[in-house]
Amino acid sequence: MSDLNHPPIQVGDAMYQLAAELFPICRSITGDGVRATLAHIQRQIPLTTHEVASGTPVFDWTVPKEWNIRDAYIRNEAGARVVDFRQSNLHVVNYSVPVNQTMSLAELKKHLFSLPDKPDWIPYRTSYYKENWGFCLRHRDLLNLTDGNYEVVIDSSLEPGHLTYGEYLIPGQSADEVLISCHTCHPSLANDNLSGVSLAVALAQRMRALSARYSYRFLFIPGTIGAITWLALNKDKAARIKHGLVLTCVGDPGQTTYKKSRRGDADIDRATLHVLKQSGSPFAAIDFYPYGYDERQYCSPGFNLAVGCLMRSQHGEFAEYHTSADNLDLIQPAFLQDSYNKVAALIDVLEGNRYYMNQNPYCEPQLGKRGLYDVVDGEVMAMLWTLNFSDGKHSLLDIAERAGMSFERIHKSAQILAAHGLLKESGAGDSIASRPAA
Ligand code: ZN
Repeated sequence: MSDLNHPPIQVGDAMYQLAAELFPICRSITGDGVRATLAHIQRQIPLTTHEVASGTPVFDWTVPKEWNIRDAYIRNEAGARVVDFRQSNLHVVNYSVPVNQTMSLAELKKHLFSLPDKPDWIPYRTSYYKENWGFCLRHRDLLNLTDGNYEVVIDSSLEPGHLTYGEYLIPGQSADEVLISCHTCHPSLANDNLSGVSLAVALAQRMRALSARYSYRFLFIPGTIGAITWLALNKDKAARIKHGLVLTCVGDPGQTTYKKSRRGDADIDRATLHVLKQSGSPFAAIDFYPYGYDERQYCSPGFNLAVGCLMRSQHGEFAEYHTSADNLDLIQPAFLQDSYNKVAALIDVLEGNRYYMNQNPYCEPQLGKRGLYDVVDGEVMAMLWTLNFSDGKHSLLDIAERAGMSFERIHKSAQILAAHGLLKESGAGDSIASRPAA
């Protein structure tokens, strides 16, 4: 894959543009907002949408009723909308049941949520699995509500319907798969997770233009219940997933954070950490823990898939998380581009990582007589490392790590050496010692 062009700088702009177009849609774990989101993405990649009926059992869970909302407001006695869903879809607790009542401020306050320490931000709240209703508002606006009666309307529906998710499989040379998964259930929040959605779309566009070794499966699913549903309905396909990433919060200014798979030393973990180390930028690596995003489901013990989670700032650790401040000002094209570059690079590691066997293992081959001292300036060291450790027991990634060089350099050396007959691809575990002496 070293013949890949470096990604054009405008990928970050295109990702930002897609996030901006999807931003106004009121998404949830089910409903027309998800459908509208997937339909919009279908303009860029030919994903398939799946509809799973409410009530479908999925492992220990059940696909919930479908939620849709048209309007919601709180109106004061003067007839003014003091809280208005049309201003921000975060104003309604996601999955609120329909309401149409007039009530006192004291009664209403039991259903109001605000952030006293961030009085200008609207919090994001959900109540998926307990039927309830509520409004979220700026604390400043909450303090301004005067005594009196309020007309409270939530024009929503919560009825048997479907859970909708999007899926796009790009077949590769092998049926072995790389999974890229992102959640599509949050309403107008940019970093969490339109950034992840945009990155997945950009990666799908990149991979469909290549003839890749692996097949690539992209999932656009509601958090938790979507991953559980997909795994329950596709248990047979899960075994094909050899490497995977959950993408979330990848557009903010924070450093890149990689949460390892439950296995901790899977190729996806090693490839990602290699790329982050080689990037020269600060990053954080954290061990798996059973909370967070859908890696929780992919890494549940029954599946234990090699799926990590790539983020910039971690959920809950940036101030804007789950508030109206997670908006289109928080994410920026340059950070989206940086996340794209890193994932593209780690995919190149997965694609190019192979085992080779040195065809001339008894002392160093004479590189000079083959003109290899002049092939690529400064790459002799990379060639020597690649030759020495290509014993069938060290993959190119092993060698890159041991040499402290980028995978790209070692991979390039291997290609040159193979072209000169000095290396031959081998299966893992083939051994120099098993070959007869020259
Ligand atoms: Zn979230």
